[in-house]
Amino acid sequence: MLKHVSLWLALSAVLSGLASAADYSKFTTPGLAKGQITHSDIAPLISYYQQQDWLETTELGRSVEQRPVYLLKIGNGERKVLAWSQMHGDEPTATAAIFDLLAIIEAQLQQQAATGEGGPAWLDKITLYLVPMLNPDGAERNSRYNALGIDVNRDALALQTPEGQLLMQAAKQIKPHYGFNLHDQNRYHAAGDNKKPATISLLAPAFNQAREINPSRHAAMQLISAVKPLLDKTIPEQLGRYDDEYSMRSFGDTFSSMGISTVLVEAGGNYNDPFRQLARQLNVQLYLRWLELISTSSYRDYDLSGYNSIPMNNSGGMKDLIIRQVNLPQANGTGVLARVDLAFNAGGNGRGSVTLHEIGDARIYGAYHHLDASGMDYSAGKAYALNEPLTLSRERYLQLLADGYSHFSGNAGHLTNNTDLPVALNPRGVNGPWPQRHASTTFLLSKDNKVQVAVINGRLIRLVDGSLIDPFAGN
Ligand SMILES: [Zn+2]
Repeated sequence: MLKHVSLWLALSAVLSGLASAADYSKFTTPGLAKGQITHSDIAPLISYYQQQDWLETTELGRSVEQRPVYLLKIGNGERKVLAWSQMHGDEPTATAAIFDLLAIIEAQLQQQAATGEGGPAWLDKITLYLVPMLNPDGAERNSRYNALGIDVNRDALALQTPEGQLLMQAAKQIKPHYGFNLHDQNRYHAAGDNKKPATISLLAPAFNQAREINPSRHAAMQLISAVKPLLDKTIPEQLGRYDDEYSMRSFGDTFSSMGISTVLVEAGGNYNDPFRQLARQLNVQLYLRWLELISTSSYRDYDLSGYNSIPMNNSGGMKDLIIRQVNLPQANGTGVLARVDLAFNAGGNGRGSVTLHEIGDARIYGAYHHLDASGMDYSAGKAYALNEPLTLSRERYLQLLADGYSHFSGNAGHLTNNTDLPVALNPRGVNGPWPQRHASTTFLLSKDNKVQVAVINGRLIRLVDGSLIDPFAGN
């Protein structure tokens, strides 16, 4: 009984928009908090929902590689809403959010069955259609594209992909009044000049080159204005507006031109949140609010000032790591030539490599991790030659770093690392007197000739206590 009471309390918190992460956790679908979500992750969930009588689950069709794409239908109201996720296979956050939404609706219906009240108020006003994971082949490859290498979101006109055809066919059959186009954006977007990540970005896409506002786009803008106060409260300064340049081949823009009020939702990064669980939770919050706003028409009370006041996404405005105010030495090695910031991003190969992205004045950027290196001097560090077997204990390794060695060279087989700290072994492109863009991200930072911090492949080891800061964990 107590369990039920706490569940209902969590449910009402979620529905009020004031839920904590703990409240949400009661409705998060297990197993989806990860960077890649594939068809095999959602298949058992689909099977479960196929057995429930409060929604209809049908197969919309098949992908290039014959994976099923599903259409879920909930409610029986006149206003039709179509939402689809993961048309880019490597953008799974909203797929998880869709299943969380189903868990919440189910809990509401159970509460209604038990108490006679508390059911979803929108059910007789709205018919909600959901396509979770439009591009299962891309999901399988953790790729943006479908199995033909086509970007499904550039296929709205040519309809060369089965996935694009399925979405267009669904839109033509359903004739939705509202569309929700659910994506992930890269974590390097900042929200305007806020130097904070755009954890959610929204857009009412343009339907023509002139970016005119017709009634359906106006309604989409109102839907965004209406949720801005909620997001200002939950993620202050972390809401962005996606670029509204007209993209005629994209579904959002095409649906917009078909008179569907379309909202683009981009789930973005947040601090210490590699799998975007905050954006997932906010997605659910947005869906619930939009269902309420659409069912009551109350979004029409909002003008466009909220929409227009959302700062534009600032592409590249966030970095993974910024080391601020590092002293670079004069050419003769004595004295300080310049004081610079070093900005790092994860490399593109997905194997944990790190790139020194920018050297100079990084004040305009935000970062997921910072190190204030004021008063610290840069040096590339020496190579420790592996001429014979070497076993690294913590003490031994920290001593070598303190002695000015930043990396190991020679026979890699000689090195046994018994620590949980990263080592740089035969790094590609050793730095010279000054760090170089796209070169090794291994070097030392010293104060009064004493090494304070070793930067090893972009990971920071503080020598005072051997603590590690890994800005790239989970990437
Ligand atoms: Zn996308």
